[in-house]
Amino acid sequence: MTRAIVRHVPHTIRQHPDTRVMFEASCQRCGWLAVPSTDADVVDEQCLVHAGRSNHRIFRRAMLSHAFVVREGESPEPPAAP
Ligand SMILES: [Zn+2]
Repeated sequence: MTRAIVRHVPHTIRQHPDTRVMFEASCQRCGWLAVPSTDADVVDEQCLVHAGRSNHRIFRRAMLSHAFVVREGESPEPPAAP
């Protein structure tokens, strides 16, 4: 019989400090895609322009970021950014 020892190690997840949040949007009527940007207002402006030209008014917006996980007791230094 094989036995396993399982121990609980707390982890935390953090925003990677060497990366920036990226904003994206797509039109839910036609699939149009905004040019991704690190500035949410720039993406929103693109959606407003698209809505004005097409009368499409529903958008899926996404905020993407890179995160890293730190185990309790280990250095909180993040790995190299992707
Ligand atoms: Zn559209």
